Amino acid sequence: QVETLKEKLLEQAQEISRLRSELGGTDAEKHRDLLAAENERLRQEMKACEGELRELRRQQQQAPCRDCPHLQENAGLQEQLSQLQREAEETRAKLVELDLEVQQKTNRLAEVELRLKDSLAERAEEEERLSRRLRDSQETIASLKSQPQQIKYIIKTVEVESTKAKQALCETQSRNQYLQEQVGMQKQVLKEMEQQLQNSQKTEAQLRAQIVMYEAELERAHGQMLEEMQAMEEEKNRAIEEAFSRAQVEMKAVHENLAGVRTNLLTLQPALRTLTHDYNSLKRQVRDFPLLLQETLRSDRAEISQAIEEVHSTNRELLRKYRRELQLRKKCHNELVRLKGNIRVFGRVRPITKEDGEGPEAASAVTFDADDDAVLHLLHKGKQVSFELDKVFPPQASQEEVFQEVQALVTSCIDGYNVCIFAYGQTGAGKTYTMEGTAANPGINQRALQLLFSEVRGKAADWDYAITVSAAEIYNEALRDLLGKEPQEKLEIKLCPDGSGQLYVPGLTEFRVQSVEDINKVFEFGHVKRVTECTNLNEHSSRSHALLIVTVRGLDRSTGLRTTGKLNLVDLAGSERVGRSGAEGSRLREAQHINKSLSALGDVIYALRSRQGHVPFRNSKLTYLLQDSLSGDSKTLMMVQVSPAEKNTSETLCSLKFAERVRSVELGPVSRKAELGSWPSQEHLEVPKRLLGDSPGSAAPPGRGHASPSPGQLSSRSASIRRKLHTSG
Ligand code: ADP
Ligand code: MG
Repeated sequence: QVETLKEKLLEQAQEISRLRSELGGTDAEKHRDLLAAENERLRQEMKACEGELRELRRQQQQAPCRDCPHLQENAGLQEQLSQLQREAEETRAKLVELDLEVQQKTNRLAEVELRLKDSLAERAEEEERLSRRLRDSQETIASLKSQPQQIKYIIKTVEVESTKAKQALCETQSRNQYLQEQVGMQKQVLKEMEQQLQNSQKTEAQLRAQIVMYEAELERAHGQMLEEMQAMEEEKNRAIEEAFSRAQVEMKAVHENLAGVRTNLLTLQPALRTLTHDYNSLKRQVRDFPLLLQETLRSDRAEISQAIEEVHSTNRELLRKYRRELQLRKKCHNELVRLKGNIRVFGRVRPITKEDGEGPEAASAVTFDADDDAVLHLLHKGKQVSFELDKVFPPQASQEEVFQEVQALVTSCIDGYNVCIFAYGQTGAGKTYTMEGTAANPGINQRALQLLFSEVRGKAADWDYAITVSAAEIYNEALRDLLGKEPQEKLEIKLCPDGSGQLYVPGLTEFRVQSVEDINKVFEFGHVKRVTECTNLNEHSSRSHALLIVTVRGLDRSTGLRTTGKLNLVDLAGSERVGRSGAEGSRLREAQHINKSLSALGDVIYALRSRQGHVPFRNSKLTYLLQDSLSGDSKTLMMVQVSPAEKNTSETLCSLKFAERVRSVELGPVSRKAELGSWPSQEHLEVPKRLLGDSPGSAAPPGRGHASPSPGQLSSRSASIRRKLHTSG
């Protein structure tokens, strides 16, 4: 047992030494030292990096471009850096912790070793003691063997002592057991510590790798920063160079400008001197100006007022002259009219129309004189009768040509004269055509108004004109308003209440017209009225007189002179005779009225032309209405319409006779008297005598009305002309 115990002890000692060498307290320490040195080196590097970082930061602060985009990047990098630093710090702290742990473990190891040593020493002592006792025991055994009694006793004692030894061995064995357990525990602890060491080594390696990574990162950031700084530097240099070159160019230009300005200054100086001089003289003038102005104004005012005075007096003189001229003109005009006669008679022969039919009946019975446009020949019952009028229009005469002869009369209306234009003749001879015309070829009415408008426009600078139009109809001696609301209403002709002796028709509609369009509207209106009022317009119109009364009122703005002229355009009823047997009832009454009014017109014209004291205006509505347009210095035109057809020759003869009689009235009391005889107007009408003469209510004073003249008494002039014409063929 002792032997085995010894062996075991030896084994234990060997195991302990092996463990020691294995554990290698020195190796761990070496490792720790190595780590500490590494740590120190890293710390140094970190410090260097921080220094570099500080330097970079300082440079960045000094860097010229503050708004550069690199700044942002830089800030990011810095942030990264600080992050890395923080991480490094943490790693460092961990490292310190690990160091501490390693230290503790080393301490514990040393302790364990110490304890191990103690126990080993104890064991050696025990072994020593045990071996000594063993020897003692063996000696005793030997001595005892020699002394059997004694030996037996000794054996007995030894046997007793052997149990004690056995007990001690057991104890030692249990102790050994405990120690072995301890060693196992220590081994376990060692293993754990090794594990821990390995872990900490792994962590350290990781940390180191991280540090390397961070360093690489740091390096990269640093490189980037450097590059950026380089680029910035280059940019800065470039900008500086550019600015420098630009500044040089500008400087050059400024230098040049300066030179120019300098030369300008040199040339300007004398100019400035003259300017100053001028300015001074101007200042003087300005100082003197109000005085001068007042002086000039005074003299100018005097001059102007003198001039105005002169102009005034000239104006007065001119006005006086103008008025005198006006009067003279009027006098001359009157004289002219007196010489020419203010009653004129024209004849118009219409062309042969389809209505005239065919054959000998439709042949033309009228011929003209190539040399004299006032003469007309009519072949009646195989005999040629010649007539002399103021003017004869052949069938081919246009509306325009007719109007040209009439327009002087129309314009005199603007000067304040009253004018009457009558169309006389048998039905179908062209009265309406001459007065109204057609839409394509208007007659006197439309043309007269057009002319009035254009004349008035021409005088608009000095005169204000108002043109009004009335349209009336006389049928069976009843006057009707064609433009009124009640065309059936019979109108009366009355004396003006102002005592002027003027006549007027109360209720007669007057339209103010300002353009030809207005006129057309008025005509259209009147025409429509007439059409709706009667069943057969043609028949009706041939038995009534149609009047268009145009009034022209003027005001001379400069003199205040007022004029009123009236233009009466009359389409008379047909002058044809109505057969004795055929005329009955209303037709007879119509014929009587027409006859009465036409002969009354003849009478009036006769009385006017022969300058009779009394003119029988009141014998018919027509003459009474036109009284103021027929008397005084009024002008009258009788347009006698003639049909050239063979079948109409007897009516044509009558019309031409009427025309010639009107025209050939010789002025002067004797001839007047003589003329009276040749005035049997419409004598061919089979109408009771009382209808032809003055009406019982006539205003004609006794003895001054015209008696029916005897047919034999023709005026000498008329007779002589007719004779001449007859003889000349
Ligand atoms: P009145 O009014 O005298 O009864 P109108 O004027 O109605 O006669 O004329 C009768 C016809 O003769 C109409 O068809 C008209 O167109 C025509 N006529 C009259 N005069 C002329 C003329 N100068 N040229 C052409 N046709 C005319
Ligand atoms: Mg007619």
